[in-house]
Amino acid sequence: MIAELTISEIILRQRKLFNTGKTKDINFRIAQLKALYDSVAQNEAAIVQAMKADLNKPEFETFASEMVMIFKEIDYAIKHIKTWTKPKKVDVPVQFFPASGKIYPEPLGVVLIIGPWNYPFQLLIAPLIGAIAAGNCAILKPSELAPHTSKLIADIVSQIFEPAYITVVEGDAEASKKLLAEKFDHIFFTGGTAVGKIIMEAAAKHLTPVTLELGGKSPCIVDTDINLEHTARRITWGKFINAGQTCIAPDYILVDKKIKDNLLDKIQKYIKEFYGDNPAQSPDYVRIISQRHFDRLTSFLKDGKIITGGENNPTERYLAPTVIDNVSWNDDVMQEEIFGPILPVLEYTDISEAIAQINCRSKPLALYLFSNNKNLQERILQETSSGSVCLNDTVLQVGVSSLPFGGVGDSGIGSYHGKSSFDTFSHYKSVLSNPFWLDLKWRYAPYEGKLAFLKRILG
Ligand code: NAD
Repeated sequence: MIAELTISEIILRQRKLFNTGKTKDINFRIAQLKALYDSVAQNEAAIVQAMKADLNKPEFETFASEMVMIFKEIDYAIKHIKTWTKPKKVDVPVQFFPASGKIYPEPLGVVLIIGPWNYPFQLLIAPLIGAIAAGNCAILKPSELAPHTSKLIADIVSQIFEPAYITVVEGDAEASKKLLAEKFDHIFFTGGTAVGKIIMEAAAKHLTPVTLELGGKSPCIVDTDINLEHTARRITWGKFINAGQTCIAPDYILVDKKIKDNLLDKIQKYIKEFYGDNPAQSPDYVRIISQRHFDRLTSFLKDGKIITGGENNPTERYLAPTVIDNVSWNDDVMQEEIFGPILPVLEYTDISEAIAQINCRSKPLALYLFSNNKNLQERILQETSSGSVCLNDTVLQVGVSSLPFGGVGDSGIGSYHGKSSFDTFSHYKSVLSNPFWLDLKWRYAPYEGKLAFLKRILG
């Protein structure tokens, strides 16, 4: 039984299996991806139930944001794996004639994937798809804050994979620390920036490369040149799905003063339309994951002026969809990622100021701009830096497998999804091959009389 093994022993078994070459076989990788797909499909009801227990997540959101993503990523990997794994021929300069060059993707070995609680299934399994497609063994560490999902993932994984190939180690930060004491060939971490630093420090001791999928304050700029209804509806959706506990949720609105009141009216209208007069009774509204996060979020309610929401119930960890106007950059709610259903609103009269405010803060994971103005779109793309940008919508960029997903600066290192997941868990090995049939002497000593020739061919 894997539970009786120490972490070192689990890793040792995985290394042994990896060294047999079994996980590198392309047909083996495809078969494992198919088994994962089937198991997720068969466990749909259990996944929905676990997510309901952990977060009060509605079935619709579980299906749309946790399961569909996994199905699409597996399909995408299976469709492209033969192309991705093929060695690629590259040009070689003439002075190396007759040598030829190729790049071979190879798996890294035994990788560690640590996940958060907010999309607790998808954020652990999506990187695993990349790890399998690239031919690795893996250990998964789900978040202890979503215990039902953590247990379910452990069960699913143990049913389809042998532990020497892929296994789950459940537990809290202590379990993570024990794992981090070991040498892995890659660590893929999704979570907060503070813990990301701890992960990177631990990885550095073993020179283990890391992918850090972190968070940050993702701005949502709203210009006057918009479709107001669609803008309000798309912002309300992206902010309040999963009760704002989405890493790429619009963190705050930065709106042109001329359109602010109209926008806020419509956002209030859509909050009501989505969740009714009392969101506490809506079957579609999620709860805050823990008391600590609930206390952190309610401490922000003192900032600015609440124009809708603010109602809360600590025993249920319920916090209504809340919009706060008259917020200043110095308020507490603007000092850290909110990661909850609170939407602060700041206004601008000059877009240059808005851009300057964004640029003097940490680089966000996502940036949203609502505007039909192509010049403004181009200006924002050129003058700001963020992990991703979505124009005239929110959050959707995460669902497109052909778009690498990741942060920049404080919001993360590296990316995944689609081919990027394969790349993240692969090493691209450069191979130069020089045949025996020709061996020109110009590079060998004695050099006398050869420099002029060298200058002629390389000059
Ligand atoms: P977290 O950083 O607290 O925890 C993430 C994981 O790290 C958990 O498995 C946890 O057990 C482990 N952990 C916690 N403390 C640790 C320690 N001291 N040493 C080692 N491991 C430790 O993050 P969270 O609260 O689960 O998630 C919220 C954060 O994650 C937010 O900042 C959010 O933006 C970010 N996030 C980012 C993405 C992304 O794709 N970039 C996705 C979801 C969430």
